[in-house]
Amino acid sequence: MPDGIIACVDPLLSFARSHEAATISLIRRMVECESPSDDPAAVNRFVDLVADTVSAYAKVKTRPGGKFGKLLFCEMTLPGRKKNGQILVLGHSDTVWPMGTLRTMPFRAANGRLWGPGVLDMKAGIAFFLSAVQGLRELDIAVPSKVLLQVNPDEEVGSEASRQSTEENAKVSKAVLVLEPGTGIAGKLKTARKGVGDFTVTVKGRASHAGVDFESGASAVLELARQIDRIAGFTRWKKGITVNPGVISGGTRSNVVAAEATAEVDIRVLKLRDVPGLERKFCTLKPFDRRCTIEVSGGLNRPPMERSAGIVKLFRTAQAMGRELGVEVEESLTGGGSDGNFTAALGVPTLDGLGAVGEGAHALNESILMDRIADRTALLAKLLTVG
Ligand SMILES: [Zn+2]
Repeated sequence: MPDGIIACVDPLLSFARSHEAATISLIRRMVECESPSDDPAAVNRFVDLVADTVSAYAKVKTRPGGKFGKLLFCEMTLPGRKKNGQILVLGHSDTVWPMGTLRTMPFRAANGRLWGPGVLDMKAGIAFFLSAVQGLRELDIAVPSKVLLQVNPDEEVGSEASRQSTEENAKVSKAVLVLEPGTGIAGKLKTARKGVGDFTVTVKGRASHAGVDFESGASAVLELARQIDRIAGFTRWKKGITVNPGVISGGTRSNVVAAEATAEVDIRVLKLRDVPGLERKFCTLKPFDRRCTIEVSGGLNRPPMERSAGIVKLFRTAQAMGRELGVEVEESLTGGGSDGNFTAALGVPTLDGLGAVGEGAHALNESILMDRIADRTALLAKLLTVG
């Protein structure tokens, strides 16, 4: 640095740096508390860990999540007397990793990264947020809004139990910050997400003996195979519409003309307005073989998070704050859904991907970059100070 220039490190960034060891040890405890979506007792243990950690500086409530773990709500106690409106911070307690994954994928720090099941998606994000809150408290920086952290137990499996709470809390918030990981190794924020849906296409044919009575059979497998080619053709890549027949099943034995066959199809859309047309295409599928029938069920599960003016404004704010922290904050569009899809679809400005920077979400190389812990934590803290 040239002589005469005094390095002016943002106080929230210095706090995050000095607090890094504590953040890493919290991440370790979180990762070592496994919490697969389909194991409510395990998810509840993780929720209790978070609740115990924040109880000194938040009002904590939980709500049952039906067949899933419980939902966690923490109203943070932050400096500043006048509170105007609310910022909702969204996280999830569940991971895609089954119990026992730690045996083959233990938590570890190596090569400048932290590794382990759920570290990126999204346990580190929750730890960063808690560290951000501690920074604001310690430095006595006024936060003009109420800040509510909501942690959902079922995000990885569609959020059916938590969606209503997410939407209710979003409706009374001026902004939503989502602690999902950033995109790619640069940790780009997410300003648009595709909507996600699924369809089940069931073909019913007519069974017969493949040797004795071949001609009286109407093969559901053959009919479905033809339909799949048609369905895959619904993809409009340039418009951001993808249609993926991902699972097929059908038939009983090779010497029987199949009576039934089913395909499960994943759809992604960039614009909500493209959904009715796509649904119509599914619902008007006609059999090639008139002796077969086609039944279609399903539809859109998460609406797209469309890049609205409110989202762009929030992103620009984050970008300016990033510059103060010495990092280039970029934006991205992703095909993956999150609970941010629900809140953005309600018109509430939503900024997603604010959690950890790393790679390998849902994969064996799941890891976060240690040298991005401090700036992400500081960015979260600064975003909470927006009026
Ligand atoms: Zn996630």
